[in-house]
Amino acid sequence: MSTIKTKDLLEGGIIRDAGNAADFKTGDWRSNVPQFVEENCIHCMFCWIYCPDTAVAIDTSGEKTKMTGFIFDHCKGCGICAQHCPPAAKGKAAIVMVREEK
Ligand code: SF4
Ligand code: SF4
Repeated sequence: MSTIKTKDLLEGGIIRDAGNAADFKTGDWRSNVPQFVEENCIHCMFCWIYCPDTAVAIDTSGEKTKMTGFIFDHCKGCGICAQHCPPAAKGKAAIVMVREEK
């Protein structure tokens, strides 16, 4: 059995490569999960802008960019997307946070 030495361990708290969030699957941290209510979405992209990770999926193939759902490998369930989703202010939320059953 090989022994891991202290000098072989990576230093903590250091981001060595910028923009590397997509390389790590961190979705299993969450306890809440966003649900997309597509009929209420106005495709403003606020959720995509505010998401602290790479967890909002968009489709840029058409004339207008559209929000299409979530990438759950990266979503941490923080709920920031739901807080900034404008339709919720009119009582028609396009993102609803629910408790995730594991
Ligand atoms: S819950 Fe948080 S991590 Fe998940 S999509 Fe919304 S803003 Fe991004
Ligand atoms: S913030 Fe809400 S309305 Fe805007 S694109 Fe995201 S889900 Fe749709």
